[in-house]
Parts: sequence; C-alpha cells; structure tokens
Amino acid sequence: MRWTRSLITTLRDDPQEAEIASHKLMLRAGMLRKVGGGLYSFTPLGLRALRKVEKIVREEMDAAGALEILLPALQPIELWETSGRASQMGASMFRLKDRADRTMVLGPTHEEVVTDYMLHEINSYRQLPVIVYQIQTKFRDEIRPRFGLMRAKEFIMKDAYSFDTSLDAADASYKAMYDAYVRIFRRCGLEAHPVEADTGTIGGNHSHEFMVLAPSGEDGILHCAKCGYSANQERAERRTAGSRYTTKAGSPEEVATPGAHSVDEAAASMGVPSTQIVKSLVYLADGKPVLAIVEGNTEVNECKLRRFLGCSILVPADIETAEKAVGAPFGSIGPVGVKIPVYADIGLKGARDVCVGANKDGFHLRHVSIEDDIKAEWADIATVVEGDSCPHCGEPLSIERGIEVGHVFKLGTKYTEKFKATYLDDKGVPQTLVMGCYGIGVTRTVQAVVEQSHDDDGIIWPASVAPYHVDLLLLDPNSPEVVKAAEELESALEAQGIDVLLDDRAERPGVKFKDADLIGFPFRVVAGAKALAKGCFEVRARGDKESALMPVGDTAAWISARIKEKLAGA
Ligand code: ATP
Ligand code: MG
Repeated sequence: MRWTRSLITTLRDDPQEAEIASHKLMLRAGMLRKVGGGLYSFTPLGLRALRKVEKIVREEMDAAGALEILLPALQPIELWETSGRASQMGASMFRLKDRADRTMVLGPTHEEVVTDYMLHEINSYRQLPVIVYQIQTKFRDEIRPRFGLMRAKEFIMKDAYSFDTSLDAADASYKAMYDAYVRIFRRCGLEAHPVEADTGTIGGNHSHEFMVLAPSGEDGILHCAKCGYSANQERAERRTAGSRYTTKAGSPEEVATPGAHSVDEAAASMGVPSTQIVKSLVYLADGKPVLAIVEGNTEVNECKLRRFLGCSILVPADIETAEKAVGAPFGSIGPVGVKIPVYADIGLKGARDVCVGANKDGFHLRHVSIEDDIKAEWADIATVVEGDSCPHCGEPLSIERGIEVGHVFKLGTKYTEKFKATYLDDKGVPQTLVMGCYGIGVTRTVQAVVEQSHDDDGIIWPASVAPYHVDLLLLDPNSPEVVKAAEELESALEAQGIDVLLDDRAERPGVKFKDADLIGFPFRVVAGAKALAKGCFEVRARGDKESALMPVGDTAAWISARIKEKLAGA
C-alpha cells in the first residue's frame, strides 16, 4: 500500500477531548475519527488493527469448537420482557418504535435472542454441548461515554453462549472459553489477568473478568501476592475479625452532637475514633427502602449489597425518600428502632460499644451494641481496600487499576428457565438447558493494546495487531533506483505475507520518521540513496534506539523471520 493512496492523516498535537494516552494516540495516529459522544469511525488504518484482533478472536473461538452465528442487533422488546430485563436495563438500553408502533431495542447484549434461538433449535441431549458466538455491534446508552473506544455508545463485542445438559457439564464449556480467552489476549500481545468478578445484571454465580492493568482503568483489582487471590473491588470478599469495640460500656445513650453529620464530625464531637462511628445509609432496592450500616472508616459497596439482596436495581435514596423511610432528619439517620430492614456489614460483628445516628437532629447514640440494640442481618457489604486482609490467606491485599477486556459467566438456568428452553434427556424427559455467556470487547481490546504498549513517541504495536508490519520509507521518492529497490523489497515481503506500507510522500524525512514512530509499525525500513550506494537498507525495530544497515538481499528474509517469530511467540 502506498501512503499517498492510504487516506492516512496524522495529527501533530493531542486532541483536546482525549484524556488517556491510548485515546490520544489512536486519534493522533489517524486510526479513529470522532463522530459524536461515544461514537467513532474507524479509518482504513484503524480498521486493519480491528480486523486483526477480530481474526485472532475468530481463530481461537473456532479452535475451541464454537460455531459462528450472526444475530440481529435490532430486537423485539418482547424478548426482554420474557427475561425480565426490559425494566432492569433502564435507560442504558436504546429503545425505538417501528412504523407499526412496536417497541424495538438496539441490542446491548444477546442473551435473550440467543436463548430464543436455541429454544427452537435444540431438541435432544445429542445436540449438546454447543457453543455459538458472533462478532457484532452492541449499543449501550452509557451514562458517561469516554476514553474513546473504552466506553462507547456503539462498540463491537465478541459474544459467545454455551448450552449444556447440566451445571457440571457447563464447567467444561466455561473452561474451554476461559482458556481461549487466555490465548486470545496473549496473541494480541496483551497482559490480561483473570480476576473474580461481579455478575452484574446478567446474574449467575461463576464469573471471571480479564483485566488489562493500566492506571487509567475504571476498575479496582485487589490482589494477594502470597496466594494469588485476585478480585474486582465490586465483589472482593472481606476477611474480618469483626469489630474492635466488643466490650459493653452501658446502654444506648443520647449525646448532643450539634452540627455533626459526617463521620469525622461525629467522631470529633464525641471524642471517639472514626472507626467507632457506624455509618448508616438508606438505599432503594427495587424501590423498597433498606438501611445499610458499616464501620465509619469503610464504604458501602453497592455491587455487593445489590448481590446480597438479590435485587435488580439498587440506588442511594434521595434525602426526601430517606427521611420519609426512616422518619428522621437525613443527617441523623441511624439503625436503632427503624422499621425498614437493616443490613450490617460483617466488620461490625461483635460490636457492643459503637456510636450511631440517633434519628433526631443534633444527636447521636453511644454505647450501642449491634447485636442487642439493633435488628439487623449480617452481610458482607463493605468495600475491600488496599491493605485489607486477603479473604483466603490473610496477607495484606494490594490494589491496581484495570481495564475489563473480557468477561466469562456461568449463567446456569437464569435465562433458559424464563424462556422454557429445554432439551430431552436420554430418557426422553424435558430438562432445562444450562447456559454460559462470554464477552470480549473487541474495539476496547484494540485500544487496550495501545494503552499497554506505547512510549512518548507513539504506539508500539505488537506484530499480531499492527495495521502494517513494516513502514518502508522512501527517502528519495524521485530516484528511480531507490524506488526500484523499495518496490522489490515490498514485493518480497508481501510474498511472505508481511503487510507493508510504502511511505512515498514528498515529505521531509523528519516528518516520515515521526509518523512511523507515532503509528508504531513494528519495523521501519529506510530506502535512501546513501545506504543503497553501500547495498543496504536501514532497518529499525520500533522501540530500538539505533537502526542497522542490512544488505538489500537479506532484508526481506530477515524481517519476515522476525515477524513470524513474534507472531508464533505471542
Ligand atoms: P463495564 O463494566 O466496563 O461497563 P460490562 O461488565 O457492562 O462492562 P459486559 O456486559 O461484560 O460489560 O460486556 C462484555 C465486554 O464488552 C466487556 O468486558 C467490555 O470489554 C466490553 N464493553 C462493555 N461495555 C462497553 C462499552 N461501553 N464500550 C466498549 N466496550 C464495552
Ligand atoms: Mg462485565
């Protein structure tokens, strides 16, 4: 491919709207163009990288025995009503009407459509197990689309679905997908760590996320260096010895704490450490008010609370709703004597001398015993933070930020029960299909590669996803000898299956060198009159400081061998 025919335009400066390195670089390298909030066009250059990721995904899915299908992005709302997710998805699902006034949905995911498909397709246990997958556009009306392809309103996902005869049998499908994911991300040149994950609105009980570690990641990942426990902060379990205030000091007693509403204010006003204050928060669980209480120095984790309650939607109650539910002014809310259900974090176990809001403006209660004075149910609902003990071995946990590139779920019968998707077992008895679902954010993965692999000069593409493997730079586009040597090298490389971009622009060498580094081709070859007079090209791998002179006759074989090594080793 000739640069002058390629529609590649690079930008010198960082675009205003881009906050993270990969987003800036994708725009500057001319791989993406913004269309609107969370909406991007792939340029011919960007599409090449995307197609390479898709190819790796397809090859590994096929190798794992999954069958490629294509389901419609436009879906009837009725399928979502059958699963019960029509309301649960809320505003994040795009809805529209067709000309006959029927409500349709732009698919944010495809569990419903695929279950409906299998319900009609599968009759007998003999057809099982089966895994199907597709690579397709998804639509989500994200609250905060940002970071380019990382959180877009329209993005490409690979979604796979497995159907098995039993939960045990489904383990094999789960493992096949998990292993395929490990290979996919490795081949993309990504270091992606599987971590225990929350199951979100999808539900089910087994789930791992594949996380690319990066400071810009939106997820917190807790990790134990000793035993290897890794979990998303949305679900990480707490290991706790319980409260440190276990000695009863008396009965609950009102203390005037004028103006003290926050934990710190209350602690200061009462002259106790903040750990002795109990934080009380009102939530609406599927519209019903509940009170969550945690130690003053911890936070309620909404994902964990939602999962514990088994509700679909959990939101903090607004001031008015909270005051009405508890019957007390907002800043004074506490758990003693309330009529709504109370959930106490396990970190409060054994607490017999703590301070809580008195449900009366300007007052707290001290000497409160959680077990004696409050009707509460124990729950693991506080957020685990750096330094907390590993739930498995007790070592202090560390925390890192991560980008979720893939997610595997063992769903069980959550959808197949609702859709009455059954098969006949070997005795002819109808049984419910057991399901798993497995997603990879394909467009997000492309950008995650850039986030993990770049330097000050630009992108450093792994050979497996580089839009072109070699940037062949014509220093003297007007010299027939130079052009001839470069074209011969181009043909020789292309014959080896190597993708070459020939920079034939009438630009200064400095501009071409900068662009080569910015786009980040794995190899740069310079064809110039000076080196050619010595029978050589100048060859440099991206990331190396110096380029080397290489005899013209050896260059094609040497580069294609290096690239094939990289592709095989990835
Ligand atoms: P997140 O927690 O990042 O919102 P999710 O858990 O809702 O993602 P899944 O439903 O598990 O996402 O979707 C499978 C994969 O699709 C994710 O692992 C992620 O890589 C990708 N993905 C999800 N939402 C987006 C988005 N808005 N833009 C780009 N990729 C996305
Ligand atoms: Mg997910």
